[in-house]
Amino acid sequence: MKRRDLIKLALASYVPAEAIAWQARRGMPSPKIKDVQVIATAPAGLRLVTVKILTDQDGLYGYGCGTYTQRADLVVAAVERYLKPFLIGKPADRIDDIWQACYNSSYWRNSPVLNNAISGVDQALWDIKGRQAGMPVYQLLGGKNREAVDTYRHASGAEISECLDQAKKLIAEGQRHVRIQVGTPGEAAYGAGRGNVARPSSVLHDGPYYNPDTYVARTLKLFEAARKELGPEIHLLHDSHERIHPTQTLQMGKDIEQYKLFFWEDPLSPEDVAWFRRLRQQTSTPLAMGELFTHPLEWMDLVSERLIDYIRVHLTMIGGLTPARKLTTLCEAFNVRTAFHGPGDICPIGHAANATLDLTVPNFGIQEYSAFNERVQEVYSNCPTLKNGYMYVNEAPGWGIEVNETAAKKYPFGYGETGERKLYNGGWGEVRKRDGTIIKQ
Ligand code: MG
Repeated sequence: MKRRDLIKLALASYVPAEAIAWQARRGMPSPKIKDVQVIATAPAGLRLVTVKILTDQDGLYGYGCGTYTQRADLVVAAVERYLKPFLIGKPADRIDDIWQACYNSSYWRNSPVLNNAISGVDQALWDIKGRQAGMPVYQLLGGKNREAVDTYRHASGAEISECLDQAKKLIAEGQRHVRIQVGTPGEAAYGAGRGNVARPSSVLHDGPYYNPDTYVARTLKLFEAARKELGPEIHLLHDSHERIHPTQTLQMGKDIEQYKLFFWEDPLSPEDVAWFRRLRQQTSTPLAMGELFTHPLEWMDLVSERLIDYIRVHLTMIGGLTPARKLTTLCEAFNVRTAFHGPGDICPIGHAANATLDLTVPNFGIQEYSAFNERVQEVYSNCPTLKNGYMYVNEAPGWGIEVNETAAKKYPFGYGETGERKLYNGGWGEVRKRDGTIIKQ
């Protein structure tokens, strides 16, 4: 590469000088893994885990996302204490081979902790491969199938009017797809507040409580109001978050059909996937599933029997970009589209990996988007950007993202966005029914 081009690359991507210098020496022998490090940071309150792999070639390194925010400390240990000693000295350019080796090295496989640890390594190796090639990862996957990634964002409120006001704001900003969720006063709905209403005295425990009946009734009213106020063209999405019983799901599936959702997410839990055969026969509403999947057998029947319309996996939870590519190819054969999980508990590298697949697979559906606050962008430069509802990745080699490790240290695990101490070491609390029965979150 000519010096003039190197300078252009540096200015365009903020890539550090040593990485640029490495570019000038391309053509060197296969790089070996020299070190595996973990960057643990919580710039937005959510615990993010980024794996950094350094090679024996100066300036050649890469970053990958291994964020499992609810058990983040365990992913750190899985990388530092198990994968690192296993990987030192291995060739950094054999991505699938290393994935298979890591996957099998624990004998028991597919735990979310181990999959996230492998994902951090896997995505870092793709970053390295892109930096070696001087190309963004989407080019390594064959190039774009579309110009940018269409996204959806969240609108919610304790009251229907609040949710719809948020939706209108997002639509005014250019969103064509909006997820809508409404709370129930005094109750713990998923994805929306509960308002300033006292809990009924008949609730038999002190924690947050959830009532599936009021959830369904409120949600149907929300959809009716949304269609009246937002019109027929906006794409509406909704997440039931696996909280209602399958028989209630069947009924809800009939009732919501008239509102013509873009998709209905997690109408059933992973433990109840066999119900999809019945649900599919009883509603034409497009179904999105898979956010909680960690094992390939969880999606195999759903995809091959065409029981769902959108695969919702969280890339790091299934082991990174390498297995996700294979999953998208499987889905393509059965016309199941992608809708990768994209909340704030994925580091920007993970969002870039989502967007990279979104750009390159023919069966892209939609991408969930959550904004990066200033602190996140202080730690991770060159994050994917959003314009008129479309997400863009940058053109720098690899993921095109650099991590400011000094800034990362300013935001240790354990504190929320406003500095408040977080409970449960990042894990979630509990939600119960009125009588005290625990429900799935
Ligand atoms: Mg969800």
